[in-house]
Amino acid sequence: MHKRVLVTGGAGFIGSHLCERLLARGDEVLCVDNFFTGTRANVAHLLGHPMFELMRHDVTFPLYVEVDEIYNLACPASPIHYQFDPVQTTKTSVHGAINMLGLAKRVRAKILQASTSEVYGDPGVHPQPEGYWGNVNPIGPRSCYDEGKRCAETLFFDYWRQHRVRIKVARIFNTYGPRMHPNDGRVVSNFIVQALKGEPITIYGEGLQTRSFCFVDDLVEGLMRLMATEDAVTGPVNLGNPGEFTMLQLAEAVIELTGSASQLQFLPLPQDDPRQRQPDIAKAAAELGWAPTVPLREGLKRTIDYFDALLSAGRAQAIAAD
Ligand code: NAD
Ligand code: UDP
Ligand code: UDP
Repeated sequence: MHKRVLVTGGAGFIGSHLCERLLARGDEVLCVDNFFTGTRANVAHLLGHPMFELMRHDVTFPLYVEVDEIYNLACPASPIHYQFDPVQTTKTSVHGAINMLGLAKRVRAKILQASTSEVYGDPGVHPQPEGYWGNVNPIGPRSCYDEGKRCAETLFFDYWRQHRVRIKVARIFNTYGPRMHPNDGRVVSNFIVQALKGEPITIYGEGLQTRSFCFVDDLVEGLMRLMATEDAVTGPVNLGNPGEFTMLQLAEAVIELTGSASQLQFLPLPQDDPRQRQPDIAKAAAELGWAPTVPLREGLKRTIDYFDALLSAGRAQAIAAD
């Protein structure tokens, strides 16, 4: 029997790739999204699939459906989007988690939470293992996201301890790839779009802060492996690529791979911007047999191809509209 799988935030960047992979394996997929940052275009190629259903719904409201597994990805992920309406961001993480956990409890579904490396805040331990409790500002501009996700983790573990809901918590580190929103302000999409347009590459601060970038296909594989584990495996488990780069190194790689003439432009560092971030993925290796396989330059090439096509199509449309 095939599984019925709910993906909240399924019309977003990571969610759309996940829906694709689940359908390819024969699952029935219910994609739920309020289209805040996700788009129908991200799943347009799945709409004709007989096992795919798209539903507009906000997870801060209750949802009554019958499913076997739930991937809870609904939440804006880029700072400009999650800071646009910070109260709604916390509600999405917290009320969304309560509703999806209530649903999982009623239908006895397994439920996976897309948590984040942001739970570690500006980390005092490097690289970050799951046992590190984090260094998070509770009242800053990033707190709606960070604390919302931390509270969601608390709820997941309390539903597990109190109600034996079968939970899986993935702490996702910076992930990139095709279908990132071109204007969502995250660094990989920003740099690529700027390079392709020949605009200045915007480096915040001195560009010496680091991030570790995971290609979306690797990440989705990790999420699916985590969901497939036995009930005793709850996480939290880090999923990310340990390859760590400064923003300057990322900018140089993007300029080289696009052959762009763009110059670097240095802008102020946003408040509470973490200085460094690198996942310790020993637990994912041991419990899931998982490790990322796509090196940064390879993943960047595929992402550049996507944005190149997107921008060319946009230019073609603009010309046609003239
Ligand atoms: P995204 O913004 O592309 O996707 C989020 C999706 O959730 C969008 O389709 C959006 O419309 C939807 N959504 C937002 N609020 C909603 C609500 N109240 N009800 C229903 N749908 C709602 O971002 P993404 O990068 O695909 O992130 C997916 C998940 O993974 C998020 O939970 C995010 O926090 C987590 N995550 C992502 C990264 C990353 O680097 N991409 C890192 C850590 C964690
Ligand atoms: N919920 C839902 N779908 C369901 C079951 C519950 O959206 O199929 C929501 C419901 O609105 C509730 C929340 O999940 O507020 C938490 O449910 P739970 O059963 O844990 O708590 P209670 O209903 O007792 O508040
Ligand atoms: N960043 C940057 N230029 C940009 C966008 C982001 O230098 O145009 C920096 C940002 O300050 C941060 C890093 O890149 O240090 C990653 O930012 P992103 O928003 O992608 O992810 P997060 O900070 O949530 O890890």
